[in-house]
Amino acid sequence: MKTKVAIKGGCLCGKVRYEITGPLFDADHCHCSMCRRQHGAAFSTYAEFNPGDFKWILGEDHVKVYETLAGAGWCFCSECGSSLAGTEKGRITTVTLGTVEGDPGIKPESHIFVGSKAQWHEINDDLPNSKKGLQAHGNHRAKPPNKTNAHG
Ligand SMILES: [Zn+2]
Ligand SMILES: [Zn+2]
Repeated sequence: MKTKVAIKGGCLCGKVRYEITGPLFDADHCHCSMCRRQHGAAFSTYAEFNPGDFKWILGEDHVKVYETLAGAGWCFCSECGSSLAGTEKGRITTVTLGTVEGDPGIKPESHIFVGSKAQWHEINDDLPNSKKGLQAHGNHRAKPPNKTNAHG
């Protein structure tokens, strides 16, 4: 029952919406200090997609991008602040699972940057952890080297 239905999502205020025309994969919980601040949460959850599958379908002019010097970035709605997507050197490479409507078709496979985990947060599941260091954050959300790779 693999129907070709685009994944859709959007921000809290409804001004910005996106569509992803292919499958999502490699979903991770990111515990890095930058994602924690950017989301105001214990961790962020992102999934990847094939290049070119993502497009803004509403309100692209409301999308603001904050990118660090290392090239990791976050796209958020300038009206309501919802974090919608992650960028790598200006290219949108990941989507926040929290803004996807309905079932994204995947579940997070691991925790990354757990070395930066919030002290008040306890990881209570059996997903693999990666303690990948912050210096590698330019490749943020790229596969951590010591992550168990289920895709061979
Ligand atoms: Zn918004
Ligand atoms: Zn992060």
